[in-house]
Amino acid sequence: MRQRPNNRLKGQSAIVTGSSSGIGKAIAIGLARDGANVVVNYHSDEEGANHTLAEIEKLNLHGSAIKFKADVSKEEAVEEMFAKAIDTFGTVDILVANAGLQKDAPLHEMELKDWQLVIDVNLTGQFLCARAAIREFLRRGMRKDVSCALGKIIHISSVHDIIPWAGHANYAASKGALTMLMQSIAQGYGKYKIRCNNVSPGAIRTPINEDAWKTKAAYNKLMKLIPSDRIGEVEDVAALCSWLASDEADYIQGTTLYVDGGMTCYPGFTENG
Ligand code: NAD
Repeated sequence: MRQRPNNRLKGQSAIVTGSSSGIGKAIAIGLARDGANVVVNYHSDEEGANHTLAEIEKLNLHGSAIKFKADVSKEEAVEEMFAKAIDTFGTVDILVANAGLQKDAPLHEMELKDWQLVIDVNLTGQFLCARAAIREFLRRGMRKDVSCALGKIIHISSVHDIIPWAGHANYAASKGALTMLMQSIAQGYGKYKIRCNNVSPGAIRTPINEDAWKTKAAYNKLMKLIPSDRIGEVEDVAALCSWLASDEADYIQGTTLYVDGGMTCYPGFTENG
C-alpha cells in the first residue's frame, strides 16, 4: 500500500465508473482511504464490485460504499446512478469517469459496431457522467466545509490521447476527443469552481492489456517503451487521482496528467532520430 490514509476527502462523495476491476477498483479504494463515500459502478461483474466493497470495508474508515450496476453509455442508466448516489449520500462531489474498453482491429477491417461501442463507452459515457456531475454540482451549491471546489471531474484517458495507435484507431480517437471534452468543461465551468482534468495512464498491469505483460517476452518488448523500466501498477494511478480530487490540487485545471513511466517521452528515439 503506497497511499497513506488521511482525511483529505472526508465528508465528500464520489462515483467511480468501472470500479469492479483494474484501475477503477484501485481508485475507489484510494478515495475511500482518504475518507470519501464511494459509489462502486459496475457494468456486469457484480462479483468484482463486491470485492471492491469488501476491500473498502476492510479499511474500516468513516465513509461508506455502495455498488451500482449501470452501463455508462446509456443516458437513463447514468441518470439512475447519480440519483442513487444523491439519495444515499446527499450529493456527489467527485466523479472519476474511468470505465473504458478496447475493440481492436486494423482500420480497414474494423466493423462499425466495434468503432461505435468504443466511442459510446469511452467518449459518450464520459460526456453523460460529466454532464450529470455538473448538473448536481450546480444544483447543490458550494459546501465550503468539505472542499473549496464546487466539484471535481477526473476523466481516465490514456497516453493514446497523444500517441497514435495503429490497429486501435477507435480507442485512440475516443481518448484524443476526451482531451477536448475535458478542456471545454474546464474552460466553461472553472468560474463556478468546478475542476476538470484528465489522468492518462501508460501501461498499467490490468486485464485490459494482459497480452502486453503476461509472458516474459511480451513484458521485455513492453519495456522498450517505458523509460522507468517497469510496468505501472493500479496504485500508481489511484494515488494521483486521490490527490487530484483533493483541495491540495485546487490549481490544477483543464490539464492532462500522464502517469506512464515516461512512455510519452518517445523512448524509441533514445538512440535514433
Ligand atoms: P479494466 O478492463 O480492468 O477496467 C475497465 C472497466 O470498465 C471494467 O470494470 C469494465 O467493466 C468497465 N466497463 C466497460 N464498459 C462499461 C460500460 N459500458 N459501463 C460501465 N462500465 C464499463 O481495465 P483498466 O485498465 O482498469 O481500464 C480502466 C481505464 O483505464 C479505461 O478507461 C482504460 O482505457 C484506461 N487505461 C488503461 C490502461 C492500462 O494500461 N491498463 C492504460 C491507459 C488507459
